[in-house]
Amino acid sequence: MTTIAFLGLGQMGGPMALNLVKAGHAVRAYDLVPAAVQKAKEGGCTACATVADAVQGAQVVVTMLPTTQAMEDLYLGAGDLLALVAPGTLLIDSSTVAPQAPRKVAEAAGAKGLAFIDAPVSGGVAGAAAGTLTFICGGDAADVERARAVLSHMGKNVFHAGGHGAGQVAKICNNMLLAIHMAGTAEALQLGVDNGLDPKTLSEIMLKSSGRNWSLELYNPYPGVMDNVPASRAYEGGFKTRLMNKDLSLAMEAAQASGSATPLGALARSLYALHGRGGAEDLDFSSIQQLFARD
Ligand code: NAD
Repeated sequence: MTTIAFLGLGQMGGPMALNLVKAGHAVRAYDLVPAAVQKAKEGGCTACATVADAVQGAQVVVTMLPTTQAMEDLYLGAGDLLALVAPGTLLIDSSTVAPQAPRKVAEAAGAKGLAFIDAPVSGGVAGAAAGTLTFICGGDAADVERARAVLSHMGKNVFHAGGHGAGQVAKICNNMLLAIHMAGTAEALQLGVDNGLDPKTLSEIMLKSSGRNWSLELYNPYPGVMDNVPASRAYEGGFKTRLMNKDLSLAMEAAQASGSATPLGALARSLYALHGRGGAEDLDFSSIQQLFARD
C-alpha cells in the first residue's frame, strides 16, 4: 500500500482517485471545491482541507488540474507544492498543459531532490471511471517505472514518450490529429448525405475503404449511425468541444514555438473555435457534424 496525495478531484481526478482506493492505496484527497472532497471521502479517500494536509506522509502526489496556469500556480506559485512535500516524493502531473510547464517544474523539483513526471491521459471521463486510461509520460525512465505501479491502477496503458514535457507533446499531437480526422469524417458524411446517400451505408463503405479511421470506426459523428456514442444522444457526455479547443490551442502554441507548419491543425482549430462560439462548447466534440449540416 502506498500513501498517495490526490490534488484536483474534477471530472477526471475524482474517479481516478477512487480507483486508487479500490486498488488498496491510502488516498489523501484535496480540491479547491469542498463538494469534490466530500465525494472523494464517500468513496474511501481521506478528506484534506489543504494541500499541506494532503501531502502529509505521501510517497506519491498525483495532480489533475484544469489548466497550465493552475498547474504552475500549484507547483511553482502560491501553492508552493514543492516546498511542502517530503524528500524522495514522486510527483505525477496528469493534467493536459503546455509542454514547457512540466519542463520548468521538473527543473525546480530536481533542484530539491524530488522526482517529477508529466503523465497526461487519453481516454476521457469514461476511461477514468473504468480505470482504462492511457498515460503518456515524459521524464526520466526510472521515475516513469516507479510511477507505473500507481498509474496501472488507473489505466491500461503506460507509455514513456521521452524526457520532461514529451508526454504533453505526444498528447497534443494525438488530439490535433483526432480533431482533424473527426472534422474530415463529418465533412465526408455530410457530402454523402447531401448527395442522397444513407450515412450508415456510406460509413460501412468507407470503413472497408481507404477513408477508414478511428472517428468513423468507434465514434461516428452522424446521429443514428452508431449506438452508444455521443452523436446518438444529442452529443451529451464524451469529450467536450471546450476541451478540444484547449488542446488545439496548446498544439498551435507548440507549433509556433517550434516553427512547425500545421495548416490542417490550424484549420481544425478555427473550425472548432467557430463551433464552440456557436453554442457547442459543452457538447461532445463530434458535434462538429452540426457545422456541416444544412439546417
Ligand atoms: P475539471 O475542471 O472537472 O477538474 C479540475 C479540478 O481541479 C476542479 O475540481 C478544480 O476545483 C480543481 N483544482 C483547480 N485548481 C486546484 C488546486 N490548486 N488545488 C486543488 N484542486 C484544484 O477538469 P477535468 O475534466 O477533470 O480535467 C482535468 C485535466 O484532464 C485537464 O487538464 C483536462 O484537459 C484533462 N483531460 C480531460 C479529459 C476529459 O474528458 N474531461 C480527457 C483527457 C484529459
